[in-house]
Amino acid sequence: MLTKIIAQANVDHVEKWFDRAEKLVIVSHVSPDGDAIGSSLGLYHFLVSQEKTVHVIVPNAFPDFLRWMPGAKDIIQYNRYKDFADKLINEADVICVLDLNALSRLDDMQEVVRTSPARKMLVDHHLYPEDFAKITISHPNISSTSELVFRLICRLGGFSDISKEGAECIYTGMMTDTGAFTYNSNNREIYLIISELLSKGIDKDEIYRKVFNNCSEDRLRLKGYVLCEKMQIFPHLRSALITLDKSEQGKFNYMKGDTEGLVNIPLSIKDVCFSAFLREDTEKNMIKVSLRSVGTFPCNKVASEFFNGGGHLNASGGEFYGTMEEAVDLFKQALVKYESLLIGKK
Ligand code: 5GP
Ligand code: MN
Repeated sequence: MLTKIIAQANVDHVEKWFDRAEKLVIVSHVSPDGDAIGSSLGLYHFLVSQEKTVHVIVPNAFPDFLRWMPGAKDIIQYNRYKDFADKLINEADVICVLDLNALSRLDDMQEVVRTSPARKMLVDHHLYPEDFAKITISHPNISSTSELVFRLICRLGGFSDISKEGAECIYTGMMTDTGAFTYNSNNREIYLIISELLSKGIDKDEIYRKVFNNCSEDRLRLKGYVLCEKMQIFPHLRSALITLDKSEQGKFNYMKGDTEGLVNIPLSIKDVCFSAFLREDTEKNMIKVSLRSVGTFPCNKVASEFFNGGGHLNASGGEFYGTMEEAVDLFKQALVKYESLLIGKK
C-alpha cells in the first residue's frame, strides 16, 4: 500500500477535470529528458484509455534513446509545428504541465500556455513551483514526476487502466531521474511501484538496455575524448569541470542527447563531490550548464546564483549568455565562493 502523499482535495479536483474534459494537452520542459517524456506519455496512455483526445507537446527535440517509447512518435515538437500546437493549446479543456516548476522552462511555448483559456494543472517534483496552475501537485521529495503520475493515476482509481505501454513509460522516467536507481532512490515505495509496473508485463532490463546501451560509435568516442582530454579536476576543491565547444561537437557528429550523463562521470572519482559540464549550444547561442553534486552540496544554488538556472540539490542546470571562457571564469568564481562547503566533503 502506497502512502497517500497527494492531497485528497487535489485528487478530487483532478478527477472532476478529467471527467469533464474532452480535449487535453500535456506539456513538458525544453530539451525533454526521460522523466519529461516518461511522465507525459504515462499520463497520455492513461487518458487515451479514458477515451479522451490527448496530445503531448514539447518545446523541442528529445534524445534518440527515448524514441522507442510507446507513443513517442505522436509527440508534437513545438519548434516544428507551432501553428498546430498553438491551436491545440488554445482549444484544450485542460493542460497538464509536467516536470517543471516555472513556465519559463517551456521556452517558446510559455506565452501560449500562459494565455490559453484552458484549465491548468501542474504535476512536478522540483522545488519552489510557480503559482500559475489552478491545481498544483508538487512533491520535491519524490524522485521523479513519472512516479507522481503513477501515484495520481492510482488515486484516481485507474491502476487497472494502466497498460503495458503506459507502465513502460512510467518506469523509464523513474529509472532515468534516479540514474537507474543509484541516487534519490532510497524510498522503499519506489520498489513497490516497480513491482506493480512489472505486473503489467514490462521488461525492466530491456528498458535499461534501450535507454543506456543504445549509443552510436560517435557518442562513445566523444565520451572517451571528453574524459581523456577535457576533464579538469580541482582536487583541493573536490570538483570537476568538463567543457565542450562547437568544433569538438562537430568532430563527433554531435546529436542531441549525446552528452547526457557525462556530467555524472567525474563524481565516480574518489572524493569528487561537485561536477560541472559546460556545452556550447549552437541552437540557442549560449553555454548550457549542467551541475551535479553528491551529499549536501547545493548545486542548485550555484545554478541560480551564477547561471540563471535552478533545479535540485544534487542535479541542476542553467544557461550562460557569453563565451566559454567567461563561463569557465564564472564557474571558478563559484568554486571560490563555495570553497568552504567543498573542502572536506563526501
Ligand atoms: P540537466 O543537467 O540534466 O540538463 O538538468 C538537470 C536538472 O537541472 C533538471 O532536471 C532541471 O531541474 C534543472 N535545470 C537544467 N537546466 C535548467 C535551466 O536552464 N533552468 C532551470 N531553472 N533549471 C534547469
Ligand atoms: Mn524529473
